[in-house]
Amino acid sequence: MADQQADTIAAIATPAGRGGIGVVRISGPDTQEIGRQLLGSLPPPRRAMLRNFRSVDGAVIDNGIAVLFPGPNSFTGEDVLELQGHGGPVVMDLLLQAALQLGARPARPGEFTERAFINDKIDLLQAEAVADLIDAVSVEAVRSAQRSLQGEFSRHIKVLVERIASLRVAVEGALDFPEEDIEILANVEAAKRLEDICSELDAVFASASQGSLMREGLSLVIIGRPNVGKSSLLNRLAGRDSAIVTDVPGTTRDLLRERVNIDGLPVTITDTAGLRPSTDRVEMEGINRAREAAAQADRVILVVDDNEGLGPADHALRQEFGGDRSLLLVHNKIDLSGAPADRRQENGETRVWLSALEGSGMDLLREEIKHSAGYLSGNEGNFMGRRRHLDALGRAQQALATANEQLVSAAGIELVATELAKAQRCLGEITGEFTAEDLLGRIFAEFCIGK
Ligand code: GDP
Repeated sequence: MADQQADTIAAIATPAGRGGIGVVRISGPDTQEIGRQLLGSLPPPRRAMLRNFRSVDGAVIDNGIAVLFPGPNSFTGEDVLELQGHGGPVVMDLLLQAALQLGARPARPGEFTERAFINDKIDLLQAEAVADLIDAVSVEAVRSAQRSLQGEFSRHIKVLVERIASLRVAVEGALDFPEEDIEILANVEAAKRLEDICSELDAVFASASQGSLMREGLSLVIIGRPNVGKSSLLNRLAGRDSAIVTDVPGTTRDLLRERVNIDGLPVTITDTAGLRPSTDRVEMEGINRAREAAAQADRVILVVDDNEGLGPADHALRQEFGGDRSLLLVHNKIDLSGAPADRRQENGETRVWLSALEGSGMDLLREEIKHSAGYLSGNEGNFMGRRRHLDALGRAQQALATANEQLVSAAGIELVATELAKAQRCLGEITGEFTAEDLLGRIFAEFCIGK
């Protein structure tokens, strides 16, 4: 890492294409020298100054705002120069080329954030939150990423690490007093403290799992006979006309995928071809694709027309697509059948009565979808959890559980101390205190260029 930071990096930080403003960002030891050559003279620190941006041959590329952030008071902790010019792709490219000719090299994706992490400006959780914030697809995801970015998730982890560390000191201290009475006393005390730590860890795990649902989401597949209202249901959930709704059976021949957002839970919904025995080759292909999609989905929604009830064809679909998991049965068109909107659990199967056309009962369906994912909306304390966080938190829980068993069975206080150290290490992986280099590489590679 050290020699990489000897490089000065540059990138266009704004999205490709035309825009009012485009930003080129430069960071590293040669930043000030490159800035002097590009701008004629450097602007005073952290002051926005209007300057001509010149190419190496002296031609004016653009006229814009230059801001210099001398290290360590910058995003990366190094000298950073931001050039805000006109957001045209060629202008931006010329500006970047000029910086490269003057000695910078193109930044890898996430390299600015990686440097901020290496220079201790932010921890790994905050670095990941930068990417999560940029990728957020809902208001809830923005809030949750922002909480992590502000360091709230990290603070919870740090408090846990400190509490485990101090318990470890106490446990190891007890090793120095072999008299039995003291050891028993120490065990009782330690068990109580360990219990508190475990419940705090469980709470952090729950918040991180909720946040991770906001990243991972849920996949649903809608199946059913032709004309029962599958496309209408998808449109209702998506809130716009994305599927072609007609009353000619068998219109949806291809799979139609929509990403909708239910109170911050991203849901990918696949509408399938009307499933019926068919000899039409295109339709048959659609049916095969529907089967594949259903096999991979988290949950399958079987739509039936409530006027007709469950016919033999519906039972066959239920049999084929249900398998081991529970189908969600939607009785559509209650505006015609006269049934009230309802959500019921029957023989391990959930049924919802609704009208995709009129919208009644749709809120019950949304509740049921959130329920399937284990998603609790309105939970303000969520952290943007990732799989790796949940994995590390899970291993820490495991280590603490083992420590607890050993305390209870008085198997040996040395072993308790070892397990506590293990839990501490797992938590340290989350904030990046102990993290393998290749993992870091993978995390930052997911970023966009210029961040
Ligand atoms: P699909 O073939 O299962 O995708 O069904 P569509 O969504 O294309 O709907 C078939 C027909 O049923 C269309 O004419 C829709 O307007 C109508 N339809 C869908 N949902 C409802 C509903 O809840 N009530 C009523 N009355 N008609 C509906």
